[in-house]
Amino acid sequence: AKAKGKACHEIFAPTMHLSALKELHLESDLRQAIQRKELVVYYQPIFRLDTQQIIGAEALVRWHPPGKSLIPPNDFIPIAEETGLIIDIDRWVLQCACQQLHQWQKEFKDLAPHFISVNLSPKQFSDPYLTNTITEIISATELPKEYLKLEITETVFLKNSNTVLEILSQLQQLNIQICLDDFGTGYSSLSYLHRFPLNSLKIDRSFVSHLGQTTKNDAIVRIVGSLANELELELIAEGIEESYQIEALNHLGYQWGQGYYFSPPIDDQAFSLLLKKNRIY
Ligand code: C2E
Ligand code: CA
Ligand code: CA
Ligand code: CA
Repeated sequence: AKAKGKACHEIFAPTMHLSALKELHLESDLRQAIQRKELVVYYQPIFRLDTQQIIGAEALVRWHPPGKSLIPPNDFIPIAEETGLIIDIDRWVLQCACQQLHQWQKEFKDLAPHFISVNLSPKQFSDPYLTNTITEIISATELPKEYLKLEITETVFLKNSNTVLEILSQLQQLNIQICLDDFGTGYSSLSYLHRFPLNSLKIDRSFVSHLGQTTKNDAIVRIVGSLANELELELIAEGIEESYQIEALNHLGYQWGQGYYFSPPIDDQAFSLLLKKNRIY
């Protein structure tokens, strides 16, 4: 047993060493990136599926090291969560997003997005002062609180569910909207839907991309649609890439959607251009 252990050790040691080293660089690079303001917020428009007008936007972070191409969030959010850097990143994204929506609403009035969605890492919920922090950030940007949606995933319900319940209730009392993201994946349990105060459901893009492919998939999309309607929850579909998906979703009672069919996430200037174009035509 001893020999076997040693062999395993020898085999795995070099790779472990490498990945640990790589993570170390990534962590210090990311720390610097935040200080050097290399993070950027992109916005993906969310559309009404009936009129195909912009109704909202989701803020999605990217890392842009100077002279290099954009690094997608899936490449650095996990390490940011492990190291706690996610706390600062999410706060910064929240601040940018609220400021940006406030500015669009001043400039474009009714044609501006009506809400902004910001992703909140489950890690945020270990901060008992989360509600205060969020309130301070929004107040500083002067955005009315009801225009903010915080996107959470089902994993937040797994740990400290009493604390999570308390924080979500506080947020809702302040008129901040809560959206359950990636709905239908992970540890979906219907009990969350009545235990926790929620305003919207965002069905995961895997269900949208399989629309029309299997009767089982379509049944799930249909049932989530009527579930949301019965529970008076807003319903958002993500990952819309084809026009037939819009028709199908619209038919099944889905109000809103986002996806490459409409627009990928874009920077603030490109988003402003999109709003300007809508104002002219
Ligand atoms: P998410 O919240 O589920 O965001 C949706 C992801 O789907 C985005 O990827 C978006 O670019 C992508 N997407 C949008 N439309 C389509 C489509 O039609 N087809 C396909 N295949 N994909 C589409 P992105 O921007 O790379 O973000 C990945 C994940 O990173 C997000 O998933 C979210 O979990 C996380 N993330 C992004 N920004 C933040 C942030 O500021 N804070 C935290 N905590 N997490 C973030
Ligand atoms: Ca999201
Ligand atoms: Ca999602
Ligand atoms: Ca996701």
